[in-house]
Amino acid sequence: MFDYLIVGAGFAGSVLAERLASQLGKKILIIDTRSHIGGNAYDCYNEAGILIHRYGPHIFHTNSREVFEYLSQFTQWRSYEHRVLASVDGQLVPIPINLDTINRLYGLHLTSFQLEEFFASVAEPKARILTSEDVVVNKVGRELYEKFFRNYTRKQWDIDPSELDRSVTARVPTRTNRDNRYFTDTYQAMPLHGYTRMFENMLSHPNIKIMLQTDYREIVGTIPYREMIYTGPIDLFFDYRYGKLPYRSLEFQHETVNTPVHQPVAVVNYPNEHLYTRVTEFKYLTGQEHPKTSIVYEYPRAEGDPYYPVPRSENTALYKKYQALADATSGVHFVGRLATYKYYNMDQVVAQALTIYKKLRETENRRSPE
Ligand code: FAD
Ligand code: UDP
Repeated sequence: MFDYLIVGAGFAGSVLAERLASQLGKKILIIDTRSHIGGNAYDCYNEAGILIHRYGPHIFHTNSREVFEYLSQFTQWRSYEHRVLASVDGQLVPIPINLDTINRLYGLHLTSFQLEEFFASVAEPKARILTSEDVVVNKVGRELYEKFFRNYTRKQWDIDPSELDRSVTARVPTRTNRDNRYFTDTYQAMPLHGYTRMFENMLSHPNIKIMLQTDYREIVGTIPYREMIYTGPIDLFFDYRYGKLPYRSLEFQHETVNTPVHQPVAVVNYPNEHLYTRVTEFKYLTGQEHPKTSIVYEYPRAEGDPYYPVPRSENTALYKKYQALADATSGVHFVGRLATYKYYNMDQVVAQALTIYKKLRETENRRSPE
């Protein structure tokens, strides 16, 4: 008899498996339809021996000391600050838009102060910032919005930014200094030996059994367990009772090229050209040295594995209906990006899982006080 059946071996499921087994001595069965642990953060060595991220680039960054210290039990780190260039008007310029972006794009020599004035002169101030278009146009005006955001967003989401919640483009700041880092979080690092190794360390407790290449629906009536932690898509759990929640997918085209370096930074974004949104060169992320290099192209897709919840009000409303069903389903806990339909980064999923763990611990302690 397992205490917990955990559906999904990504960050949400693995954190909970680790905590419940190591801290409360619970017996865990963690199960995934895929042939590996790690969920979308899975990495592996390809045929050329280069460490790649199968499901696209995963860069770890967080402001949460608790999350960073928690994961540090399972991995050492390699300091890494992420930098991205965007291909715009025939040049590769920094994104997030900063002082160098504007000076290079327009052949200017503005200071930070002058750039603030420039932004103020081109911005279209909005009384209410509701959409992903509002966020950008309100700060940097329509021309820069068109060059950097409009087409990228349409490609990625198949929706105009004016129909997407403001939270999507708000992920990318605007700067008037020369800081060209993609993130400014306190902790920015990559697991020294990769994500998969870190997940292996999390799941190595003898109380944790792992079952791969299995949909939980195949075993749910046959293997006894007390409670379930579910990290798959919430609409699937309820057999799409209210219809499908939109999730956006990607097709990853991996390639190894016979040259040590392919592009000047880890990621180049292509807002206006090509059918792909961005190209990632993994060696920048991992620090690996190798005579060849591996890259991945991301092609947005409507069909395929669910990768991104689509933040817009009608989807949130539909999610709320599923959430009400989830709240009324006793013995099942919904955690993670797909099960709570939130556009969460890895650290946010870890934080959410640690919070759920603390709640479960309270319930367990009430059930059998020490
Ligand atoms: P997942 O990792 O999706 O795990 C859920 C697991 O459940 C999956 O392995 C799935 O196979 C399994 N499952 C689903 N249904 C079933 C079922 N019926 N039976 C059994 N198993 C099932 N975050 C960052 O912080 N930094 C980044 O740079 C970053 N880059 C990203 C790039 C891309 C292209 C994508 C898609 C995401 C990125 N993220 C990034 C977000 C990150 O991937 C997620 O926050 C995190 O992996 C979510 O963990 P999770 O456990 O909630 O979900
Ligand atoms: N975005 C854009 N142009 C860019 C980078 C981002 O329009 O050069 C928008 C786009 O809508 C994207 C969102 O901002 O989906 C969030 O970008 P982020 O890089 O955080 O996306 P993720 O890494 O989660 O795919």
